[in-house]
Amino acid sequence: MQMYSEADVDTTVLADRKIAILGYGSQGRAHALNLKDSGFDVVVGLRSTGASWAKASADGQVVQEPNQAVQDAAVVMFLTPDMVQKSVYQTVVDDIPKGALLLFAHGFAIHYGQVEPRADLDVALIAPKGPGGLVRRQYEEGHGVPCLVAVNQDATGNALKTALAYSAGIGGARAGVIETTFAEETETDLFGEQAVLCGGATELIVAGFETLVEAGYQPEVAYYEVMHELKLIVDLLHEGGLKKMHKFISDTAAWGDMVSGPRVVDDKSRAAMKTILSEIQDGTFARNWIAENENGMPEFKRMMKADLDHPIEKVGADLRGRMDWLQE
Ligand code: NAD
Ligand code: MG
Repeated sequence: MQMYSEADVDTTVLADRKIAILGYGSQGRAHALNLKDSGFDVVVGLRSTGASWAKASADGQVVQEPNQAVQDAAVVMFLTPDMVQKSVYQTVVDDIPKGALLLFAHGFAIHYGQVEPRADLDVALIAPKGPGGLVRRQYEEGHGVPCLVAVNQDATGNALKTALAYSAGIGGARAGVIETTFAEETETDLFGEQAVLCGGATELIVAGFETLVEAGYQPEVAYYEVMHELKLIVDLLHEGGLKKMHKFISDTAAWGDMVSGPRVVDDKSRAAMKTILSEIQDGTFARNWIAENENGMPEFKRMMKADLDHPIEKVGADLRGRMDWLQE
């Protein structure tokens, strides 16, 4: 494993050179603010008709149309949604200077051939392993969110060096930057969110809630048990792995974990994980998701509505409303 820290980074490669950030959502806002506070020359590229324009201006950013923002830029970071990277690239490609570095925070567009960059450009990714809000907060507190770095095209010979300077600018190098490939970053990221973090975890919660409610227990009690308390466990895992969790839970909980956990995540679940991974690797997942976008996302909207209409959402909103420390 190759990990870079601040001492390995030469930020002078980006001194007095312009960084264009395309998109000002979760990641875009955090990157642009951190880079600016690190002393870099940042311009934000947005459609003047879009909702983010006013937000970026209010934050004191220099904001321009994407094709203007990339002119004279040494780095062009694509922080628009993955499904619009292709059209954003087509909008700006003729205005990107020769030898500039195209950066991504997720490898999807490059790995699945949505964007095929000009041969004279460098192409790399700096992927923070955390949401934008955390990337900003950690930076402000003097820390950083760890990042992955990968180079996919190195026309100038400086792709890695420039990408690492960017990672230092957003605070990532304070926590460490691990070298990977576009394939590894993209495939593991998609697998993680599908099988474990988002898909796996929410299905587990909802199935646990339904099991308790169908057995006649109160929905409020079921909610506390399977959704609310999950945070306590995740915090322990995050801070100290399985060992810390086992230290803090009761022996009864630990025994139940070890005898019953493998009955829930059993051979059938593991086989499903393997299938999910192979559909990510062979491009099936990407093809389906791109097609869904091109069709106006009917299935996405239908399933999202079903998720948000689930009874656990009603119970949860009522209970969370009583926990004033959860309100912002
Ligand atoms: P987001 O949806 O929060 O923000 C997208 C931004 O792009 C918005 O400012 C929107 O106005 C703008 N935009 C949309 N269409 C545009 C267009 N055609 N032209 C110009 N601007 C346009 O997106 P995000 O979650 O920050 O994701 C950005 C990238 O970061 C993605 O590649 C994603 O995979 C990656 N990423 C996200 C996270 C995360 O936690 N959200 C973590 C790691 C990597
Ligand atoms: Mg789900």
